[in-house]
Parts: sequence; C-alpha cells; structure tokens
Amino acid sequence: MNSRRTIILVTVVLVATFAVFIVWPRAAMTRQDQSPQKQQPPTIDEYQPKSTLVTKEHKIERAKFPFIDIHSHHWNPTPGEVDRLVKEMDTINLRVMVNLSGGTGEQLKNTVAAMKGRYPDRFVVFANMSYDDLNTPGFGKRVTARLEQDVKNGAQGLKIFKNFGMDLKYANGERVHVDDPEFDAIFEKCAELKLPVLIHVAEPSPFFDPWDYHNERWEELKEFPGRARPPAKYPPFETLMAERNHLFAKHPRTNFIAAHLGFHGNDLERLGKLFDANPNVYVDIAAVLAELGRQPYSAHDFLVKYQDRVLMGKDIYDVNEYKWYFRALETRDEYFEYYRKRHAFWRIYGFQVPDEVLKKVYYKNALKLVPGIDAKAFPD
Ligand SMILES: [Zn+2]
Repeated sequence: MNSRRTIILVTVVLVATFAVFIVWPRAAMTRQDQSPQKQQPPTIDEYQPKSTLVTKEHKIERAKFPFIDIHSHHWNPTPGEVDRLVKEMDTINLRVMVNLSGGTGEQLKNTVAAMKGRYPDRFVVFANMSYDDLNTPGFGKRVTARLEQDVKNGAQGLKIFKNFGMDLKYANGERVHVDDPEFDAIFEKCAELKLPVLIHVAEPSPFFDPWDYHNERWEELKEFPGRARPPAKYPPFETLMAERNHLFAKHPRTNFIAAHLGFHGNDLERLGKLFDANPNVYVDIAAVLAELGRQPYSAHDFLVKYQDRVLMGKDIYDVNEYKWYFRALETRDEYFEYYRKRHAFWRIYGFQVPDEVLKKVYYKNALKLVPGIDAKAFPD
C-alpha cells in the first residue's frame, strides 16, 4: 500500500515537472513568436526574410549566344585544370575565356602553352607588368620591352591590377599615380600593337567611406576589413578617378577597358559622360551585376545607348554563377536573389536587352577590341 502511494506520488511529480519545464516554456515561446514586439530584434546576419512574391521565373543555365568572358583569372593553370575548364565552358556556351592573369616572361609563356597551346580557339591570355625593377632608372622602357616580348610569346592584351594607383609605391614612399608619365611608353606601345588595356582602378566607392551604419557595403567590410580604403592609407576615390580619366585622355589611341563598370555602376550617368568624353574607353560588367540589377530601367537604357562600349565578364570563375548574368541580361525576371550576398543587400531584376545589344555585350565588342579571336565561331 505504502509503495503504491509512493509510485503515484512520484508519477505526479514527474508529470508536473515535465509540464513546467518542457511544455509550458514551449507554449510560451509559441506565444512569443506570435507577438514580434516581444522578440529580440534579429541581427543583420540573422534576418533572412523569404520572399513571398509569386511571379514568372526563368532559370537560364546557358547563354543565348556564344560569349567571351573578358575578365577571368587562372594563375598558372595545369593541363588538367584547363581540360576541366573547357568541359565546363561548353555547358554554358562560354566560347572564349580571357585569362587576365598571364604574368610576364616565363610565367606568361607557360600559361599560354597550357591554355592556348592545347585549345587555341578557346583561350586568350593577357600579360601583366612586373614592378620588380620599378626603382631602377629606365623602368618605363624595360617594362615596355617586356610587354613586346610577351606579345611575341602569345599575349593578346595587358591587364593592370588594382595595386596600381593604390598600393604600388616608389622606394621613397611616393605612390605611383595612375597617370604617372613613367608608364606612358607602355600605353603608347599598346596603341601601336592594337592591344587592349584592361585596367582596374580604385574599388567600390563605399570602401573609401567611413565604415558606419550608413555604408552600403557594411557587411562586406565586416567580413573583409582589409578591403577598407581609409584616407590615412589611401588616396580618395575621386583622386583615383581624376588620375584614371587623365590617363584615358592622354592616350586617345589606346583602347582601355575599365574593369567593373569603372566603379560607376551606381552612377550610370557619370559613366555615360566618361564614354562621351573618351571614345577609347570601354567597360566590363564583372562582379558588378548587382549594380545594374537594382536599376533595371536605367540599366536597359544605358546598355542600349552604349551598346558598343560594354563587355561581358565574370571575374572570380565559378561555372555555376554565370546564370545570374544570363538571367539579368536575357529576361525581365523580378526581384530575384543575387549570388553574392555581401555585394548586395538588395534583390535584382532582369533588364532584358534586344538580341543585337546582347550579341555586342556577349562577343562583338570583345571581337573588335581583342586581336586574334576567331570570329567564325560566333553568329553574325
Ligand atoms: Zn579581376
């Protein structure tokens, strides 16, 4: 009798404990879920609203026309990597890939051999400058001679990386300006050889602004603090733009492709003025698609107006990320997520351009600028 009473008592206590510690808090939590004003606000990373928008979606896995990627990077690729690349390129209609990271001298030779040596119609390699002897008098002449040799070894253009104008300094600590006369000879040589110069000057302007709660790239700067360009260490964005524009103006026979919409993707009118003032200037859309995708009407009209000046490019290679470019350029899809959250807090919109414009962006402008690509692989 006594033991039976104990069992009942223990059972009652257990049930009560279960109710108090397990069931009741859950019920309370559910109630809390229903009244947002009682929740802790989510952090910026936690808040991931799911769109409820129901609208037409077009998943485009393959470009409508064969295209040239004017902006890609493959450092010292091995034959195996190149084989894999070609297989992947075929799946998305990527006909010609421009590797901007060819280097100079032996490295350039090896890169040309690994890529063009095996697939002559599928790859283009751009040379880069070496600054190793920057502080030895006569640098301008030597760097120009090296480029001439690189062209003999198969280079089809010159790529200038972003350290030029920002981190590159003379031994006395003076920054190399983008329009430094020491480099005039190499730009004139590019005009003579009809070689395009793809040049990355500065960075997105928010990287030069204070890292505060009004900064559009707050999250990217949190993830990569080294991308900040504080005034204590770097020239202002506008100084770099002025030097760059002076460079474009003083070499009118040289064709320049300003990487990443020249960092004017957030001000297309300004980019239009740059085009109007300099017929030798072009841009690529690599890694700045979100800028166009957040202003579909302006982007569409801009691409129609300046259809001879804009080139397709992707930058960091990933065969699975090109489809955002196809969808933005080829459809009118609305409010879809971008592939790189840190670049864009916003969703993007397709700005579908006419086929004639699409062909220019995909390949015709690149065919015009880059010597030695076989046009027969592309439609008229
Ligand atoms: Zn790049």
